[in-house]
Amino acid sequence: MSTIADNLAYVRKNISDACIRAGRDPKEVTLIAVSKTKPVSDIREAMSAGQTVFGENKVQELRTKTTEITEPLSWHMIGHLQLNKVKYLPGMVDMIHSVDNMALAEQIEKECAKKDTVMNILCEVNMAGEESKFGLAPSEVKDFVKSISGFNHIKVKGLMTVAPATDDPESNRVYFKDMKKLMVDINNEKIDNIKLSELSMGMTNDYTIAVEEGATFVRVGTGIFGARNYAV
Ligand SMILES: *Cc1c(COP(=O)(O)O)cnc(C)c1O
Repeated sequence: MSTIADNLAYVRKNISDACIRAGRDPKEVTLIAVSKTKPVSDIREAMSAGQTVFGENKVQELRTKTTEITEPLSWHMIGHLQLNKVKYLPGMVDMIHSVDNMALAEQIEKECAKKDTVMNILCEVNMAGEESKFGLAPSEVKDFVKSISGFNHIKVKGLMTVAPATDDPESNRVYFKDMKKLMVDINNEKIDNIKLSELSMGMTNDYTIAVEEGATFVRVGTGIFGARNYAV
């Protein structure tokens, strides 16, 4: 059986190969190890293999894990977020990837103002228009970004998407391409305070394709830690 260290080495190699194919510098891509549902011991194994950036999708789990692991790591909140949980995130995470509504943006602004800090955020976009998914419709993103561009305690860094689960990852390429175009379009609007540079896209099944299409963050869970068991 492969270890977490083996898996990490394999994923890093795939990212670097995808960068080379696309004429990109591998340093442009940050691998987020998605440790949701996995024990602290697994995170420690990944840390021993040099991993410093981790993603979680639940605030309570983030709180527990960041209490147990006090080494300086970069934590990313990648999951759907309830308003009453926002207060825990300033100082705990480096970025929130899942901002898709005004009420949430206002809450982040308010909580970060209280703590005199600025939160990096990504706007989550439902590129494939899936019924079951969170995220703004692509057509809504520009106005949304505009409407939060004046917030002093939020820095909009880019866009995030969760592409469809599919047996044919190649079929997700179009969504990654379109999200990059969307970022370029928004930058061309020259909105005050807005210069987007980050694209959080690609998961275990499709991260190499996402890297070929310009991802700057890939979020890989299963490919590093193995399958999740939600029954436990
Ligand atoms: C769980 C999760 C991932 C990782 O998914 P894998 O398929 O296990 O790599 C990535 N992004 C988000 C938002 C997730 O919730």
